[in-house]
Amino acid sequence: MNIIQTALLKLSSGEAMAFPTETVYGLGADCTNDSAVQKIFTLKGRPAFNPLIIHVSDIHMAFKYGEFNDTARTLANKFWPGPLTIVVPLNKNAKISSYVTAGLDTIAIRCPNHPVALDLLQQYNVPIAAPSANISGYVSPTKYEHVHDEFGDKVFIVPGDQSCIGLESTIVDCSVTDVAILRPGFITKENIETILNMPLTEKTSSEVIKAPGQFKLHYSPKLPVRLNVTNVHPNEALLNFGQNALTADISLNLSPQGNLDEAATNLFDYLRKLDKHPNITGIAVSPIPCEKIGVAINERLDRAASK
Ligand code: AMP
Ligand code: MG
Repeated sequence: MNIIQTALLKLSSGEAMAFPTETVYGLGADCTNDSAVQKIFTLKGRPAFNPLIIHVSDIHMAFKYGEFNDTARTLANKFWPGPLTIVVPLNKNAKISSYVTAGLDTIAIRCPNHPVALDLLQQYNVPIAAPSANISGYVSPTKYEHVHDEFGDKVFIVPGDQSCIGLESTIVDCSVTDVAILRPGFITKENIETILNMPLTEKTSSEVIKAPGQFKLHYSPKLPVRLNVTNVHPNEALLNFGQNALTADISLNLSPQGNLDEAATNLFDYLRKLDKHPNITGIAVSPIPCEKIGVAINERLDRAASK
């Protein structure tokens, strides 16, 4: 049996399995199967009120699960497959586990732009509910080895390359009149405003889901994180960006050339690497420009530092 066949068998027998996408690795299960979806929550230690994104092979599969208005259709046509999750009203006729939506009457849907993920979805022909394949609250995984570090042999992992985008998808809420960005990502607010030809509001998912505080510790390494540093303390590791005068014995540079896309790809891998380093007491992060995908990088770092 090849790897994809094994993954399909896990899905059809109600197990969770991990798989690569272009954003981060996902921990997926059949979105119609209550006990399979519950396994995701148990494995991650994820609170039941935090809904999951379903992954679809194309727009036609998406239409069976969500009610797409003109705005949602325009965005799906423009950005799928790709790193954009669209929140729409749940299709009342959809057969879906209520654990996926955490009981909400809306659903978050994405079509990933990754050959392995698309192959799985096309062959399984039912959406896969999948959050990031990490213990809830820790840094998201962008490499096979990150997922293995988290779950060991408890979870079957479809192998793949490093996730090329490296940050979770942008989430846009199209279930309300004033379309809002719930989470920044590779596709920026400006990208979406240009396509829709209208300004967007910015909200957090917790405002929409109404579970205050639920996301505070997202993406946190074990070590304390200090942002926008101008100097590095003794025993701190440095997470640097571009060229500057900062130095430390233990240091990684997200992009020596100052390229934000490259920095996004490396962010979670480097945070995990520094977090594992013995004998350091914290991670000092240099300033990173808050433009383009830098907005999402800074948002993830703010959460990492909010412990
Ligand atoms: P992740 O934690 O990366 O799996 O992404 C799932 C996130 O999608 C949740 O934490 C919410 O922020 C968001 N989400 C999922 N479903 C909904 C929904 N129906 N309404 C609003 N946000 C949602
Ligand atoms: Mg996550």
